[in-house]
Amino acid sequence: KAKPLSDLAIATSAIMQPIFDIAKNAGIPEEAVEPYGKYKAKIDVSKLPVTQSFGKVVLVTATSPTPAGEGKSTVTVGLADALARLGEKSMIALREPSLGPVMGVKGGAAGGGYAQVLPMEEINLHFNGDIHAITTANNALSAMIDNHLHQGNALQIDPRRITWKRALDMNDRALRHITIGLGGPGQGIPREDGFDITVASEIMAVFCLATSLTDLKERLSQMVIGYTYDKEAVTVRDLGVEGALTLLLKEAFKPNLVQTIEGTPALIHGGPFANIAHGCNSLMATNTARKLADIVVTEAGFGSDLGAEKFMDIKARKGGFAPDAVVLVTTIRALKMHGGVLKSNLGSENVQAVKDGIVNLEKHVETVRTFGVQPVVALNRFITDSSDELDFVLEWCAEKGVRVALTDVWGLGGEGGLDLAKQVLELLDENNDFAPLYDVEQPVIEKINTIVQKVYGGKGVVLTDKAKKDLLQIEQNGWDILPVCMAKTQYSFSDDPKKLGRPEDFTITIREIIPKLGAGFLVCLTGDIMTMPGLPKKPAALQMGIDEQGNAFGLM
Ligand code: ADP
Repeated sequence: KAKPLSDLAIATSAIMQPIFDIAKNAGIPEEAVEPYGKYKAKIDVSKLPVTQSFGKVVLVTATSPTPAGEGKSTVTVGLADALARLGEKSMIALREPSLGPVMGVKGGAAGGGYAQVLPMEEINLHFNGDIHAITTANNALSAMIDNHLHQGNALQIDPRRITWKRALDMNDRALRHITIGLGGPGQGIPREDGFDITVASEIMAVFCLATSLTDLKERLSQMVIGYTYDKEAVTVRDLGVEGALTLLLKEAFKPNLVQTIEGTPALIHGGPFANIAHGCNSLMATNTARKLADIVVTEAGFGSDLGAEKFMDIKARKGGFAPDAVVLVTTIRALKMHGGVLKSNLGSENVQAVKDGIVNLEKHVETVRTFGVQPVVALNRFITDSSDELDFVLEWCAEKGVRVALTDVWGLGGEGGLDLAKQVLELLDENNDFAPLYDVEQPVIEKINTIVQKVYGGKGVVLTDKAKKDLLQIEQNGWDILPVCMAKTQYSFSDDPKKLGRPEDFTITIREIIPKLGAGFLVCLTGDIMTMPGLPKKPAALQMGIDEQGNAFGLM
């Protein structure tokens, strides 16, 4: 049997339409299109026609992921293509890939097979410079802080209590803890610092939740960078640099337009991780897509316990809209891993392991329903799946009254997602009772407990002494009325990445709570989760390169 073509081979052999044609079909007037080459553009939203009608939002989430990803982006792209084939005006809103996972584990994040967004390499590498701009704004703020210390420290910032970190869009564990300012009086004030990956930075979150340049500037000004010797919070406004930071982000803040292999328009903008940040593309992109299309297909990172929970409790709450339907992607491979099979043994049939692992899907279905929304399960088909394995999942769904569609958009493009699209359309015709899970006015502990119990299926939460101290400070400052953004491993409902399937009777340990006042949430760090990941033993980068003709290889 011939080896299937790689994502990159399929992407580079696809024929793209000029971006102006894609824009025109999407209802974007020429004067709003700012082309970046032939096939990418930024959209000046101030030049879009005014409308009061907004498209419906379909959120794509998944069961707890295995290391390679479950095909959420692939299904997001394929579903929008399938809806277009059925004559619906659909548009995609996706996150932009971070170079951390591209060079590290995944090798790319623009969908896969015949359900991809193009141009694949450019989307995966330095896409229109947005992440560069966000990294630069982040590090400009760091430079301003250190310069302030060096120039006399008028604000009396305690160098030991600076919480703002530098950022880099790469997995680089060696930069987690660093010492800066060494070398004598001319080199600044020595202090400890560290790097976060850009996609975990507060500027990325602010960028994704801001609704206008004015809102962006206001949110940037509210970010806390640390504390004075008297333990008073110091903000960006105190340093007076919100204007400069907003200016650095002005071009990046415009959503990016690209196309799928089948010519469906896609806005790709902003890319916070879902385990250590809020995991959704920008509100600018989602709102722009809602104005232009009747159905917007969007994705939130990792499983429904992470990205989808944050989509519902943070993004939809802030954006003032509800998800109209949820697609829950799962694979036979993932269910087998949740049933105890090792990655190296996934190729052989094992119906019993699927039966053992289906508890993970069951919990994700329950979680989505907790928000008052019905899911449709997209069973993302791999060529290694056996018909008995697939039948088991289809029958299980039928028995439990869960909508399910066998989906092969990876192999067939939109054609392979027609059943899924039809079921999504049926769901969109039904009313749902969407509501965020908690009220922001509730005490912080209650908010966290609600998530732990209703979303993760755990018993409750335990705070370390450090986290208790953080919480006290948050309450004393009156910041406790913000939503919470959990930072938790994506592999398990619990904070232990090894507990697959559907763990029960566990507690979640919170070791630190970090107020992110610009983003408007409190980040709760659980377990051993890191805001700067490391590279794996064999990074995807080892396979990558480019030939003399300029053809890339090794991007998966
Ligand atoms: P996620 O969004 O869940 O992280 P992606 O959509 O990025 O996952 O897919 C991860 C990888 O898996 C991609 O390389 C993609 O080509 C591959 N993939 C997705 N679906 C399938 C499938 N049905 N068969 C084979 N490979 C697939």
